[in-house]
Amino acid sequence: MLIALLPGDGIGPEVVAEAVRVLDVVAGDRLTFEKGLVGGAAYKAVGHPLPQETLDLAKRADAILFGAVGDPDCDALERHLRPEQAILGLRKALGMFANLRPAKLFKELADASALRPEVAGAIDMVIVRELNGDVYFGEKGMRKTAEGRREGYDVMSYDEDEVARIARVGFETARARGRRLCSVDKANVLETSQLWRDVVIELSAQYPDVELSHMYVDNAAMQLVRNPGQFDVIVTGNLFGDILSDQASMCAGSIGMLASAALDSNQKGLYEPIHGSAPDIAGQGKANPLATILSAAMMLRYSLGMADEADRIEAAVAKALENGARTADLGGAMTTSEMGDAVLAIL
Ligand code: NAD
Repeated sequence: MLIALLPGDGIGPEVVAEAVRVLDVVAGDRLTFEKGLVGGAAYKAVGHPLPQETLDLAKRADAILFGAVGDPDCDALERHLRPEQAILGLRKALGMFANLRPAKLFKELADASALRPEVAGAIDMVIVRELNGDVYFGEKGMRKTAEGRREGYDVMSYDEDEVARIARVGFETARARGRRLCSVDKANVLETSQLWRDVVIELSAQYPDVELSHMYVDNAAMQLVRNPGQFDVIVTGNLFGDILSDQASMCAGSIGMLASAALDSNQKGLYEPIHGSAPDIAGQGKANPLATILSAAMMLRYSLGMADEADRIEAAVAKALENGARTADLGGAMTTSEMGDAVLAIL
């Protein structure tokens, strides 16, 4: 199976290198890696943050492992040439509409959460966020009211196929975990949400083994802080998911620990840590590679049908933490490659 490696900028190459070492050990005999340029690194080399060659590689590959993009040298470029455009371009070109963000607190890191350890310790959920629709992609603009005041507008909409497509990912994800799906909407106020809720309920007939519940987004925001342990899988739209997934991840501790996936309708995915290129620590060996290593585990599970190998990686990460392995963001002094070594030693 072909893995497109897109390390990108800043700490991206450092953390991707550690994930590749781990993948080599658990599945090296079945994986081939091919590197592509992306982000500021691509702009500097060939004048575009997402070169055609990289896009072709991403399309050919069975899965994509992505580091991070973002380079202060590129901040003054026109928007379409900025490194961050590469990730949006990839998602769009590959039809990746589902964002999966697991939030799990490793018990050894309970002190790293903003929540009390006994509340945070129960966090083990996945947020499934729709990526290609909602208010971000609806009609938008600036206009003048009849009285001559400036008015900005962004239209929120989802059609039933878009809702069913993401709801299906939610049900399937729940089926592979604790079999509980909570659909988050604002159906008491928004027509878009009423349709969302109707379609999710219709689809639930096909998943009698998954317990479905519904929650208004304002309540969900509160429950995520009050009692996050109640959630198994949350499925929600682009706007609500944008906010809730960041909230959930911070409840679960350091940004250096959190993985994510963007999937298309065939479970092909782009896997990446949720953090950015961290220019403040790039090149210093300080980056925590665990978010990328855990992204690689997700890749094995969701796109490559290697759930056992994914379990092995996740267990090795937990064990390394239990043994006291800590990079600076976790209050320790290990370098990026020493953290990689700690995981490899257990594998
Ligand atoms: P960031 O996530 O890069 O960094 C935020 C803070 O967290 C920094 O202090 C950084 O040192 C720390 N940090 C991040 N990852 C870490 C890790 N693995 N180990 C230890 N510490 C870590 O966010 P930012 O500073 O807002 O953005 C920097 C650049 O990254 C910007 O250009 C931004 O646009 C880009 N960005 C890219 C992505 C992506 O590629 N998907 C996501 C977010 C931000």
